Amino acid sequence: MTDFDVIVVGAGPVGLFLAAELRLGGAKVLVLERDHDPVRPAKVGSMGARALNTPTVAALELRGLLSAVRRSALSWFGDTEPGDSPPPAPSQSDEPQQYAPTYVGHFAGIDIRLDRIEFDDPELAEAAAGGGVIAQQDLENILAEHAVGLGVQIRRGVPVMSYTVDDDGVTVVAGEPIRAAWQVGCDGGRSTVRKLGGFAFPGFDPLFTGRQALVELADSDLPVGVWRHSTAGSYVVGGWGNERASRIHTVEWTAPDDRYAEVTPEELQESLCRVSGMDVRVRAVHAATRYADTTRQADTYRRGRVLLAGDAAHVHSPAGGQGLNLGIGDAMNLGWKLAAVARGLAPENLLDTYTAERHPIGAWVQNWTLAQTALTNPAEPRNEALRTVMADLLDTPQGATYVLKKIIGTWQCYDLPGTHPLIGHRIPLLALSDGTVLSDHSRDGRAILLDAMGVPALREIAARWGDRITLVTAKAVEYGDAQFAVFVRPDGHVAWVAEQESDVDGLAAVLTTWLGRAPIPAG
Ligand SMILES: Cc1cc2nc3c(=O)[nH]c(=O)nc-3n(C[C@H](O)[C@H](O)[C@H](O)COP(=O)(O)OP(=O)(O)OC[C@H]3O[C@@H](n4cnc5c(N)ncnc54)[C@H](O)[C@@H]3O)c2cc1C
Repeated sequence: MTDFDVIVVGAGPVGLFLAAELRLGGAKVLVLERDHDPVRPAKVGSMGARALNTPTVAALELRGLLSAVRRSALSWFGDTEPGDSPPPAPSQSDEPQQYAPTYVGHFAGIDIRLDRIEFDDPELAEAAAGGGVIAQQDLENILAEHAVGLGVQIRRGVPVMSYTVDDDGVTVVAGEPIRAAWQVGCDGGRSTVRKLGGFAFPGFDPLFTGRQALVELADSDLPVGVWRHSTAGSYVVGGWGNERASRIHTVEWTAPDDRYAEVTPEELQESLCRVSGMDVRVRAVHAATRYADTTRQADTYRRGRVLLAGDAAHVHSPAGGQGLNLGIGDAMNLGWKLAAVARGLAPENLLDTYTAERHPIGAWVQNWTLAQTALTNPAEPRNEALRTVMADLLDTPQGATYVLKKIIGTWQCYDLPGTHPLIGHRIPLLALSDGTVLSDHSRDGRAILLDAMGVPALREIAARWGDRITLVTAKAVEYGDAQFAVFVRPDGHVAWVAEQESDVDGLAAVLTTWLGRAPIPAG
Protein backbone atom coordinates (compact mmCIF):
# COMPACT_ATOMS: atom_id res chain seq x y z
CA MET A 1 0.00 0.00 0.00
CA THR A 2 1.49 3.33 -1.01
CA ASP A 3 0.50 6.92 -0.26
CA PHE A 4 1.64 8.20 -3.64
CA ASP A 5 2.56 6.81 -7.04
CA VAL A 6 5.68 8.97 -7.20
CA ILE A 7 7.66 11.09 -4.76
CA VAL A 8 9.70 13.78 -6.46
CA VAL A 9 12.53 15.06 -4.25
CA GLY A 10 13.33 18.71 -4.96
CA ALA A 11 11.12 21.59 -6.13
CA GLY A 12 13.65 23.17 -8.46
CA PRO A 13 12.62 23.74 -12.06
CA VAL A 14 13.14 20.11 -13.01
CA GLY A 15 11.23 18.63 -10.05
CA LEU A 16 8.33 21.01 -10.61
CA PHE A 17 8.10 20.36 -14.33
CA LEU A 18 8.42 16.61 -13.82
CA ALA A 19 5.72 16.59 -11.14
CA ALA A 20 3.34 18.36 -13.53
CA GLU A 21 4.12 15.88 -16.31
CA LEU A 22 3.47 12.99 -13.93
CA ARG A 23 0.09 14.51 -12.97
CA LEU A 24 -0.84 14.94 -16.62
CA GLY A 25 -0.12 11.23 -16.97
CA GLY A 26 -2.56 10.55 -14.11
CA ALA A 27 -0.05 9.73 -11.36
CA LYS A 28 -0.55 10.80 -7.74
CA VAL A 29 2.51 12.91 -6.99
CA LEU A 30 4.15 14.41 -3.90
CA VAL A 31 7.05 16.85 -4.13
CA LEU A 32 9.30 17.15 -1.07
CA GLU A 33 11.43 20.29 -0.94
CA ARG A 34 14.13 21.02 1.62
CA ASP A 35 13.74 24.82 1.64
CA HIS A 36 10.79 26.44 3.40
CA ASP A 37 10.44 29.45 1.16
CA PRO A 38 9.64 29.02 -2.56
CA VAL A 39 11.42 32.35 -3.14
CA ARG A 40 14.77 31.13 -2.05
CA PRO A 41 16.91 33.97 -0.77
CA ALA A 42 19.60 31.56 0.31
CA LYS A 43 19.91 30.31 -3.23
CA VAL A 44 20.96 33.33 -5.19
CA GLY A 45 21.59 31.03 -8.16
CA SER A 46 17.81 30.89 -8.61
CA MET A 47 17.80 34.63 -9.18
CA GLY A 48 20.23 34.17 -12.02
CA ALA A 49 19.13 34.54 -15.62
CA ARG A 50 18.74 31.32 -17.53
CA ALA A 51 18.83 30.95 -21.31
CA LEU A 52 16.10 28.66 -22.68
CA ASN A 53 16.88 26.58 -25.77
CA THR A 54 14.67 25.22 -28.56
CA PRO A 55 13.66 21.89 -26.94
CA THR A 56 12.69 23.73 -23.73
CA VAL A 57 10.70 26.33 -25.66
CA ALA A 58 8.96 23.51 -27.57
CA ALA A 59 8.13 21.69 -24.32
CA LEU A 60 6.72 24.87 -22.76
CA GLU A 61 4.64 25.51 -25.87
CA LEU A 62 3.27 21.94 -25.89
CA ARG A 63 2.04 22.45 -22.33
CA GLY A 64 0.63 25.94 -22.90
CA LEU A 65 3.24 27.64 -20.70
CA LEU A 66 5.19 29.54 -23.32
CA SER A 67 3.18 32.76 -23.29
CA ALA A 68 3.54 33.07 -19.49
CA VAL A 69 7.27 32.45 -19.78
CA ARG A 70 7.62 35.01 -22.56
CA ARG A 71 5.75 37.58 -20.49
CA SER A 72 8.19 37.06 -17.60
CA ALA A 73 11.30 36.79 -19.76
CA LEU A 74 14.07 39.32 -19.35
CA SER A 75 14.56 39.19 -23.11
CA TRP A 76 13.23 37.14 -26.00
CA PHE A 77 15.16 36.52 -29.15
CA GLY A 78 12.96 36.32 -32.22
CA ASP A 79 10.47 39.04 -31.19
CA THR A 80 12.29 41.63 -33.25
CA GLU A 81 14.06 41.85 -36.58
CA PRO A 82 17.82 41.43 -36.39
CA GLY A 83 19.48 44.82 -35.91
CA ASP A 84 22.32 46.50 -34.22
CA SER A 85 20.94 48.02 -31.06
CA PRO A 86 22.50 46.77 -27.82
CA PRO A 87 20.50 45.07 -25.04
CA PRO A 88 18.81 47.61 -22.78
CA ALA A 89 19.82 47.99 -19.15
CA PRO A 90 17.90 45.64 -16.83
CA SER A 91 14.61 47.20 -15.76
CA GLN A 92 12.10 46.35 -13.08
CA SER A 93 9.23 46.67 -15.55
CA ASP A 94 6.74 43.79 -15.85
CA GLU A 95 6.81 44.15 -19.61
CA PRO A 96 9.05 41.74 -21.51
CA GLN A 97 12.06 43.52 -22.86
CA GLN A 98 12.81 43.25 -26.53
CA TYR A 99 16.10 43.95 -28.17
CA ALA A 100 17.91 43.14 -31.32
CA PRO A 101 21.33 41.85 -30.36
CA THR A 102 24.39 41.81 -32.55
CA TYR A 103 25.42 38.39 -31.35
CA VAL A 104 23.43 35.24 -30.62
CA GLY A 105 25.58 33.37 -28.16
CA HIS A 106 29.14 32.42 -27.49
CA PHE A 107 31.48 29.48 -27.32
CA ALA A 108 34.03 29.72 -24.50
CA GLY A 109 33.40 33.46 -24.41
CA ILE A 110 33.98 33.92 -28.17
CA ASP A 111 30.93 35.73 -29.56
CA ILE A 112 28.82 34.28 -32.37
CA ARG A 113 27.73 37.18 -34.58
CA LEU A 114 24.11 37.36 -35.63
CA ASP A 115 24.99 38.51 -39.15
CA ARG A 116 27.00 35.32 -39.72
CA ILE A 117 24.02 33.00 -39.20
CA GLU A 118 22.48 31.22 -42.20
CA PHE A 119 18.84 31.64 -41.21
CA ASP A 120 17.68 29.68 -44.26
CA ASP A 121 19.19 26.52 -42.72
CA PRO A 122 16.16 24.17 -42.49
CA GLU A 123 17.16 23.06 -38.99
CA LEU A 124 16.74 26.61 -37.74
CA ALA A 125 13.09 26.67 -38.85
CA GLU A 126 12.16 24.82 -35.66
CA ALA A 127 13.65 27.64 -33.63
CA ALA A 128 11.03 30.05 -35.00
CA ALA A 129 9.39 30.42 -31.57
CA GLY A 130 12.69 31.94 -30.47
CA GLY A 131 14.50 31.46 -27.23
CA GLY A 132 14.85 33.70 -24.28
CA VAL A 133 16.37 34.53 -20.98
CA ILE A 134 14.34 34.36 -17.78
CA ALA A 135 15.23 34.63 -14.11
CA GLN A 136 15.20 31.07 -12.77
CA GLN A 137 13.03 32.19 -9.86
CA ASP A 138 10.38 33.51 -12.27
CA LEU A 139 10.42 30.23 -14.20
CA GLU A 140 10.10 28.27 -10.95
CA ASN A 141 7.09 30.40 -9.95
CA ILE A 142 5.36 29.63 -13.25
CA LEU A 143 6.14 25.92 -13.01
CA ALA A 144 5.00 25.72 -9.38
CA GLU A 145 1.67 27.34 -10.23
CA HIS A 146 1.26 24.97 -13.18
CA ALA A 147 2.05 21.90 -11.05
CA VAL A 148 -0.22 22.88 -8.16
CA GLY A 149 -3.00 23.71 -10.62
CA LEU A 150 -2.80 20.13 -11.88
CA GLY A 151 -3.07 18.72 -8.36
CA VAL A 152 0.57 18.18 -7.40
CA GLN A 153 1.15 18.32 -3.63
CA ILE A 154 4.27 20.24 -2.65
CA ARG A 155 5.58 20.02 0.92
CA ARG A 156 8.26 22.59 1.66
CA GLY A 157 10.72 22.59 4.53
CA VAL A 158 11.01 18.81 4.27
CA PRO A 159 14.57 17.64 3.52
CA VAL A 160 14.84 14.00 2.49
CA MET A 161 17.59 12.50 4.64
CA SER A 162 17.15 8.79 3.96
CA TYR A 163 14.99 6.25 2.22
CA THR A 164 14.66 2.51 1.81
CA VAL A 165 13.65 0.57 -1.28
CA ASP A 166 11.90 -2.80 -1.45
CA ASP A 167 10.22 -4.77 -4.21
CA ASP A 168 7.00 -2.77 -4.08
CA GLY A 169 8.11 0.75 -3.42
CA VAL A 170 10.15 3.35 -1.61
CA THR A 171 9.78 4.58 1.96
CA VAL A 172 11.09 8.09 2.37
CA VAL A 173 11.92 9.33 5.83
CA ALA A 174 11.13 13.02 5.90
CA GLY A 175 9.86 13.61 9.41
CA GLU A 176 7.28 10.82 9.16
CA PRO A 177 7.74 7.88 6.77
CA ILE A 178 6.00 8.38 3.41
CA ARG A 179 5.47 5.53 1.00
CA ALA A 180 5.43 5.71 -2.81
CA ALA A 181 5.82 3.18 -5.59
CA TRP A 182 8.58 5.26 -7.23
CA GLN A 183 10.95 8.05 -6.30
CA VAL A 184 12.72 10.56 -8.54
CA GLY A 185 15.67 12.58 -7.27
CA CYS A 186 15.46 16.12 -8.68
CA ASP A 187 17.45 17.38 -5.74
CA GLY A 188 20.25 19.09 -7.61
CA GLY A 189 23.95 18.47 -8.13
CA ARG A 190 24.62 17.33 -4.56
CA SER A 191 21.66 14.96 -4.71
CA THR A 192 21.00 12.98 -1.56
CA VAL A 193 18.81 10.59 -3.58
CA ARG A 194 21.70 9.83 -5.94
CA LYS A 195 24.22 9.30 -3.13
CA LEU A 196 21.94 7.06 -1.07
CA GLY A 197 20.82 5.18 -4.18
CA GLY A 198 24.35 3.99 -5.00
CA PHE A 199 24.45 5.59 -8.46
CA ALA A 200 27.96 5.76 -9.94
CA PHE A 201 28.79 9.39 -10.80
CA PRO A 202 32.02 9.37 -12.80
CA GLY A 203 33.63 12.46 -14.31
CA PHE A 204 35.99 15.33 -13.67
CA ASP A 205 36.84 17.40 -10.61
CA PRO A 206 36.51 21.19 -10.89
CA LEU A 207 39.12 23.66 -12.13
CA PHE A 208 37.37 26.92 -11.32
CA THR A 209 35.11 28.46 -8.69
CA GLY A 210 32.23 30.81 -9.38
CA ARG A 211 30.66 32.94 -6.65
CA GLN A 212 27.36 34.78 -7.00
CA ALA A 213 25.94 37.00 -4.32
CA LEU A 214 23.57 39.79 -3.49
CA VAL A 215 25.64 42.24 -1.45
CA GLU A 216 25.99 45.81 -0.26
CA LEU A 217 29.27 47.36 -1.35
CA ALA A 218 30.88 50.29 0.49
CA ASP A 219 31.68 53.22 -1.84
CA SER A 220 32.60 50.96 -4.71
CA ASP A 221 34.15 52.28 -7.94
CA LEU A 222 33.66 48.92 -9.64
CA PRO A 223 32.29 49.23 -13.19
CA VAL A 224 28.72 47.95 -13.54
CA GLY A 225 27.11 45.77 -16.15
CA VAL A 226 29.92 44.14 -18.12
CA TRP A 227 32.22 41.23 -17.50
CA ARG A 228 35.80 42.30 -16.69
CA HIS A 229 38.71 39.90 -17.08
CA SER A 230 42.17 39.84 -15.53
CA THR A 231 44.87 37.23 -15.05
CA ALA A 232 43.35 36.57 -11.63
CA GLY A 233 39.86 35.82 -12.98
CA SER A 234 36.66 37.51 -14.12
CA TYR A 235 33.83 39.44 -12.48
CA VAL A 236 30.66 41.35 -13.19
CA VAL A 237 28.64 43.69 -10.96
CA GLY A 238 24.99 44.50 -11.58
CA GLY A 239 22.20 46.34 -9.79
CA TRP A 240 19.48 44.20 -8.32
CA GLY A 241 16.10 45.73 -7.73
CA ASN A 242 17.11 48.44 -5.27
CA GLU A 243 19.95 50.88 -5.20
CA ARG A 244 21.82 49.49 -2.23
CA ALA A 245 22.10 45.83 -3.21
CA SER A 246 24.39 44.71 -6.01
CA ARG A 247 24.55 41.35 -7.64
CA ILE A 248 28.16 40.24 -7.95
CA HIS A 249 29.57 37.26 -9.82
CA THR A 250 33.24 36.27 -9.73
CA VAL A 251 35.07 33.41 -11.43
CA GLU A 252 38.55 32.29 -10.35
CA TRP A 253 40.65 29.47 -11.72
CA THR A 254 41.10 27.56 -8.49
CA ALA A 255 38.95 24.68 -7.33
CA PRO A 256 36.84 25.44 -4.24
CA ASP A 257 38.50 24.35 -0.96
CA ASP A 258 35.27 23.14 0.54
CA ARG A 259 32.27 23.16 -1.76
CA TYR A 260 29.86 22.65 1.12
CA ALA A 261 31.10 25.46 3.39
CA GLU A 262 28.93 28.55 3.78
CA VAL A 263 29.97 31.51 1.61
CA THR A 264 31.16 34.23 4.01
CA PRO A 265 31.35 38.01 3.42
CA GLU A 266 35.14 37.75 3.81
CA GLU A 267 35.36 35.13 1.06
CA LEU A 268 33.32 37.31 -1.32
CA GLN A 269 35.30 40.43 -0.51
CA GLU A 270 38.64 38.69 -1.01
CA SER A 271 37.50 37.17 -4.30
CA LEU A 272 36.25 40.53 -5.58
CA CYS A 273 39.52 42.22 -4.58
CA ARG A 274 41.61 39.55 -6.31
CA VAL A 275 39.75 39.57 -9.65
CA SER A 276 39.23 43.34 -9.83
CA GLY A 277 42.61 44.36 -8.43
CA MET A 278 40.74 47.01 -6.42
CA ASP A 279 40.22 47.59 -2.72
CA VAL A 280 36.57 46.60 -2.42
CA ARG A 281 34.61 46.44 0.82
CA VAL A 282 31.57 44.15 1.15
CA ARG A 283 29.37 45.71 3.85
CA ALA A 284 26.59 43.14 3.97
CA VAL A 285 25.63 39.89 2.22
CA HIS A 286 21.95 39.18 1.60
CA ALA A 287 22.42 35.90 -0.23
CA ALA A 288 25.35 34.01 -1.69
CA THR A 289 26.17 30.83 -3.53
CA ARG A 290 29.25 29.11 -4.86
CA TYR A 291 29.47 26.81 -7.87
CA ALA A 292 32.19 24.99 -9.73
CA ASP A 293 32.71 23.27 -13.07
CA THR A 294 32.59 19.76 -11.62
CA THR A 295 31.60 17.57 -14.59
CA ARG A 296 29.96 14.28 -13.74
CA GLN A 297 27.13 12.14 -15.07
CA ALA A 298 25.33 9.24 -13.42
CA ASP A 299 26.10 6.07 -15.38
CA THR A 300 22.40 5.19 -15.37
CA TYR A 301 19.39 7.38 -14.57
CA ARG A 302 17.46 4.52 -13.00
CA ARG A 303 18.23 1.95 -10.33
CA GLY A 304 15.09 -0.07 -9.73
CA ARG A 305 12.42 2.16 -8.25
CA VAL A 306 14.67 5.20 -7.95
CA LEU A 307 15.35 7.55 -10.83
CA LEU A 308 17.28 10.78 -11.31
CA ALA A 309 16.57 13.87 -13.39
CA GLY A 310 18.18 17.26 -13.89
CA ASP A 311 21.33 18.27 -12.01
CA ALA A 312 20.93 15.21 -9.78
CA ALA A 313 21.80 13.12 -12.85
CA HIS A 314 24.46 15.37 -14.40
CA VAL A 315 26.54 18.38 -13.39
CA HIS A 316 28.87 20.49 -15.50
CA SER A 317 30.13 24.03 -15.99
CA PRO A 318 27.30 26.51 -16.56
CA ALA A 319 29.18 27.92 -19.57
CA GLY A 320 26.83 27.94 -22.50
CA GLY A 321 23.64 27.70 -20.43
CA GLN A 322 22.70 24.05 -20.85
CA GLY A 323 21.89 22.60 -17.41
CA LEU A 324 18.32 23.68 -16.87
CA ASN A 325 17.45 22.92 -20.47
CA LEU A 326 18.89 19.46 -20.12
CA GLY A 327 16.88 18.86 -16.97
CA ILE A 328 13.60 20.06 -18.50
CA GLY A 329 14.30 17.63 -21.36
CA ASP A 330 14.79 14.80 -18.84
CA ALA A 331 11.48 15.66 -17.18
CA MET A 332 9.60 15.83 -20.48
CA ASN A 333 10.99 12.43 -21.45
CA LEU A 334 10.40 10.73 -18.10
CA GLY A 335 7.06 12.11 -16.87
CA TRP A 336 4.63 10.31 -19.20
CA LYS A 337 6.61 7.07 -19.12
CA LEU A 338 6.80 6.86 -15.34
CA ALA A 339 3.14 7.86 -14.97
CA ALA A 340 2.10 5.06 -17.34
CA VAL A 341 4.27 2.49 -15.54
CA ALA A 342 3.17 3.66 -12.07
CA ARG A 343 -0.48 3.34 -13.09
CA GLY A 344 0.12 -0.17 -14.45
CA LEU A 345 -0.70 0.88 -18.01
CA ALA A 346 2.72 0.19 -19.49
CA PRO A 347 5.39 -2.41 -18.65
CA GLU A 348 8.39 -1.44 -16.53
CA ASN A 349 10.81 -1.80 -19.43
CA LEU A 350 9.38 1.42 -20.90
CA LEU A 351 11.54 3.12 -18.27
CA ASP A 352 14.69 1.66 -19.82
CA THR A 353 14.16 4.03 -22.73
CA TYR A 354 14.63 6.98 -20.35
CA THR A 355 18.35 6.39 -19.77
CA ALA A 356 18.78 5.16 -23.35
CA GLU A 357 17.34 8.38 -24.80
CA ARG A 358 18.53 10.99 -22.31
CA HIS A 359 22.01 9.78 -21.31
CA PRO A 360 23.57 10.45 -24.75
CA ILE A 361 22.23 14.02 -24.74
CA GLY A 362 23.61 14.57 -21.23
CA ALA A 363 26.97 13.15 -22.37
CA TRP A 364 27.00 15.58 -25.29
CA VAL A 365 26.44 18.52 -22.93
CA GLN A 366 29.27 17.30 -20.70
CA ASN A 367 31.57 17.26 -23.71
CA TRP A 368 30.41 20.66 -24.94
CA THR A 369 31.06 22.34 -21.60
CA LEU A 370 34.36 20.51 -21.00
CA ALA A 371 35.62 21.79 -24.35
CA GLN A 372 34.79 25.35 -23.29
CA THR A 373 36.51 24.94 -19.93
CA ALA A 374 39.61 23.61 -21.70
CA LEU A 375 39.57 26.54 -24.10
CA THR A 376 39.36 29.16 -21.35
CA ASN A 377 41.77 27.63 -18.84
CA PRO A 378 44.51 30.25 -18.30
CA ALA A 379 46.87 27.57 -17.00
CA GLU A 380 47.39 26.43 -20.60
CA PRO A 381 49.06 29.25 -22.60
CA ARG A 382 48.62 27.33 -25.88
CA ASN A 383 44.87 27.92 -25.53
CA GLU A 384 45.27 31.37 -27.01
CA ALA A 385 46.30 29.77 -30.32
CA LEU A 386 43.30 27.46 -30.18
CA ARG A 387 40.96 30.36 -29.40
CA THR A 388 42.22 32.23 -32.46
CA VAL A 389 41.42 29.24 -34.65
CA MET A 390 37.99 28.89 -33.04
CA ALA A 391 37.28 32.62 -33.44
CA ASP A 392 38.10 32.35 -37.16
CA LEU A 393 35.74 29.39 -37.52
CA LEU A 394 32.96 31.22 -35.66
CA ASP A 395 33.38 34.15 -38.01
CA THR A 396 32.33 31.98 -40.97
CA PRO A 397 28.63 31.43 -41.81
CA GLN A 398 29.02 27.65 -41.63
CA GLY A 399 30.94 27.73 -38.35
CA ALA A 400 28.61 30.22 -36.67
CA THR A 401 25.48 28.39 -37.85
CA TYR A 402 26.82 24.99 -36.81
CA VAL A 403 27.70 26.13 -33.28
CA LEU A 404 24.45 28.07 -32.86
CA LYS A 405 22.43 24.98 -33.78
CA LYS A 406 24.39 22.97 -31.23
CA ILE A 407 23.79 25.57 -28.50
CA ILE A 408 20.07 25.91 -29.11
CA GLY A 409 19.63 22.16 -29.32
CA THR A 410 17.80 21.83 -32.63
CA TRP A 411 19.86 18.67 -33.24
CA GLN A 412 18.47 16.85 -30.20
CA CYS A 413 16.48 13.78 -31.19
CA TYR A 414 16.12 10.15 -30.12
CA ASP A 415 17.23 7.02 -31.88
CA LEU A 416 13.82 5.40 -32.40
CA PRO A 417 12.96 2.51 -34.72
CA GLY A 418 11.81 3.45 -38.21
CA THR A 419 13.30 4.95 -41.35
CA HIS A 420 11.26 8.11 -41.96
CA PRO A 421 13.44 11.21 -41.41
CA LEU A 422 10.96 12.70 -38.91
CA ILE A 423 11.13 9.72 -36.56
CA GLY A 424 12.82 10.52 -33.25
CA HIS A 425 12.57 14.28 -33.84
CA ARG A 426 10.29 16.79 -32.14
CA ILE A 427 7.13 17.39 -34.14
CA PRO A 428 7.16 20.85 -35.72
CA LEU A 429 4.55 23.18 -34.23
CA LEU A 430 2.27 22.68 -37.26
CA ALA A 431 -0.66 24.90 -38.21
CA LEU A 432 -3.61 22.66 -39.11
CA SER A 433 -6.37 22.95 -41.66
CA ASP A 434 -9.06 23.07 -38.93
CA GLY A 435 -7.65 26.38 -37.71
CA THR A 436 -5.83 24.91 -34.69
CA VAL A 437 -2.13 24.38 -34.16
CA LEU A 438 -0.76 21.06 -33.03
CA SER A 439 0.13 22.37 -29.59
CA ASP A 440 -3.56 23.17 -28.96
CA HIS A 441 -3.99 19.40 -28.72
CA SER A 442 -1.05 18.63 -26.44
CA ARG A 443 -1.90 20.64 -23.31
CA ASP A 444 -3.23 17.53 -21.55
CA GLY A 445 -0.02 15.58 -22.10
CA ARG A 446 -1.59 12.79 -24.13
CA ALA A 447 -0.08 11.19 -27.21
CA ILE A 448 -1.41 12.51 -30.54
CA LEU A 449 -2.26 10.74 -33.75
CA LEU A 450 -2.33 13.35 -36.49
CA ASP A 451 -4.26 11.90 -39.40
CA ALA A 452 -3.95 13.86 -42.62
CA MET A 453 -5.09 10.81 -44.65
CA GLY A 454 -8.60 10.26 -43.30
CA VAL A 455 -8.14 6.47 -43.25
CA PRO A 456 -10.87 4.66 -41.21
CA ALA A 457 -8.41 1.98 -40.03
CA LEU A 458 -6.39 4.67 -38.24
CA ARG A 459 -9.42 5.83 -36.28
CA GLU A 460 -10.25 2.25 -35.32
CA ILE A 461 -6.72 1.55 -34.05
CA ALA A 462 -6.54 4.83 -32.11
CA ALA A 463 -9.94 4.13 -30.53
CA ARG A 464 -8.54 0.97 -28.91
CA TRP A 465 -6.26 3.13 -26.74
CA GLY A 466 -9.21 5.20 -25.55
CA ASP A 467 -8.28 8.44 -23.78
CA ARG A 468 -4.56 7.71 -23.89
CA ILE A 469 -4.36 9.18 -27.36
CA THR A 470 -5.89 12.23 -29.03
CA LEU A 471 -6.87 11.71 -32.65
CA VAL A 472 -6.56 14.90 -34.71
CA THR A 473 -7.95 14.60 -38.22
CA ALA A 474 -6.64 17.55 -40.21
CA LYS A 475 -4.17 18.50 -42.91
CA ALA A 476 -0.98 20.33 -42.04
CA VAL A 477 -1.21 23.74 -43.72
CA GLU A 478 2.50 23.73 -44.50
CA TYR A 479 2.30 20.39 -46.32
CA GLY A 480 -0.78 21.20 -48.44
CA ASP A 481 -2.64 18.08 -49.54
CA ALA A 482 0.14 15.68 -48.53
CA GLN A 483 -1.19 12.30 -47.39
CA PHE A 484 0.39 11.26 -44.11
CA ALA A 485 -0.27 10.24 -40.54
CA VAL A 486 2.06 10.80 -37.58
CA PHE A 487 2.11 9.32 -34.08
CA VAL A 488 3.51 11.84 -31.62
CA ARG A 489 4.52 10.63 -28.16
CA PRO A 490 3.37 12.72 -25.18
CA ASP A 491 6.82 14.39 -25.13
CA GLY A 492 6.31 15.69 -28.66
CA HIS A 493 8.68 13.25 -30.37
CA VAL A 494 7.56 11.47 -33.52
CA ALA A 495 7.56 7.68 -33.18
CA TRP A 496 5.73 6.61 -36.37
CA VAL A 497 4.93 8.07 -39.78
CA ALA A 498 2.73 6.66 -42.55
CA GLU A 499 2.64 8.07 -46.05
CA GLN A 500 0.29 5.55 -47.59
CA GLU A 501 -2.59 3.38 -46.43
CA SER A 502 -0.55 0.17 -46.37
CA ASP A 503 1.79 1.67 -43.74
CA VAL A 504 -1.07 1.81 -41.24
CA ASP A 505 -0.57 -1.87 -40.35
CA GLY A 506 2.43 -1.04 -38.16
CA LEU A 507 0.61 1.45 -35.95
CA ALA A 508 -0.87 -0.92 -33.36
CA ALA A 509 2.57 -2.35 -32.53
CA VAL A 510 4.02 1.14 -32.16
CA LEU A 511 1.20 2.22 -29.84
CA THR A 512 1.71 -0.91 -27.74
CA THR A 513 5.42 -0.09 -27.40
CA TRP A 514 4.85 3.46 -26.18
CA LEU A 515 1.45 3.38 -24.49
CA GLY A 516 1.21 -0.22 -23.29
CA ARG A 517 -1.40 -2.78 -24.29
CA ALA A 518 -4.65 -1.48 -25.74
CA PRO A 519 -7.33 -1.42 -23.03
CA ILE A 520 -10.05 -2.06 -25.63
CA PRO A 521 -9.75 -5.28 -27.67
CA ALA A 522 -9.56 -5.14 -31.48
CA GLY A 523 -12.72 -5.16 -33.54
C1 LIG B 1 25.86 30.72 -12.82
C2 LIG B 1 24.91 29.73 -13.45
C3 LIG B 1 24.32 30.03 -14.68
C4 LIG B 1 23.47 29.11 -15.28
N1 LIG B 1 22.89 29.42 -16.48
C5 LIG B 1 22.09 28.53 -17.09
C6 LIG B 1 21.45 28.84 -18.34
O1 LIG B 1 21.58 29.95 -18.88
N2 LIG B 1 20.67 27.88 -18.92
C7 LIG B 1 20.52 26.66 -18.35
O2 LIG B 1 19.85 25.82 -18.96
N3 LIG B 1 21.08 26.35 -17.16
C8 LIG B 1 21.85 27.25 -16.51
N4 LIG B 1 22.40 26.96 -15.29
C9 LIG B 1 22.13 25.62 -14.69
C10 LIG B 1 20.80 25.57 -13.95
O3 LIG B 1 20.70 26.58 -12.96
C11 LIG B 1 20.63 24.20 -13.29
O4 LIG B 1 20.94 23.21 -14.25
C12 LIG B 1 19.22 24.01 -12.78
O5 LIG B 1 18.98 24.81 -11.66
C13 LIG B 1 18.98 22.55 -12.39
O6 LIG B 1 17.67 22.42 -11.91
P1 LIG B 1 17.30 21.21 -10.93
O7 LIG B 1 15.85 21.36 -10.65
O8 LIG B 1 17.81 19.94 -11.51
O9 LIG B 1 18.17 21.45 -9.62
P2 LIG B 1 18.14 22.69 -8.60
O10 LIG B 1 17.78 23.95 -9.26
O11 LIG B 1 19.45 22.61 -7.88
O12 LIG B 1 16.97 22.33 -7.59
C14 LIG B 1 17.11 21.25 -6.67
C15 LIG B 1 16.09 21.43 -5.56
O13 LIG B 1 16.18 20.31 -4.70
C16 LIG B 1 16.13 20.78 -3.34
N5 LIG B 1 16.81 19.78 -2.51
C17 LIG B 1 18.13 19.49 -2.44
N6 LIG B 1 18.35 18.48 -1.59
C18 LIG B 1 17.15 18.11 -1.10
C19 LIG B 1 16.73 17.11 -0.17
N7 LIG B 1 17.61 16.28 0.42
N8 LIG B 1 15.41 17.00 0.12
C20 LIG B 1 14.50 17.83 -0.48
N9 LIG B 1 14.86 18.80 -1.36
C21 LIG B 1 16.16 18.93 -1.68
C22 LIG B 1 16.85 22.12 -3.39
O14 LIG B 1 16.50 22.95 -2.29
C23 LIG B 1 16.34 22.67 -4.72
O15 LIG B 1 15.12 23.37 -4.56
C24 LIG B 1 23.24 27.86 -14.65
C25 LIG B 1 23.82 27.56 -13.41
C26 LIG B 1 24.65 28.50 -12.81
C27 LIG B 1 25.29 28.15 -11.48
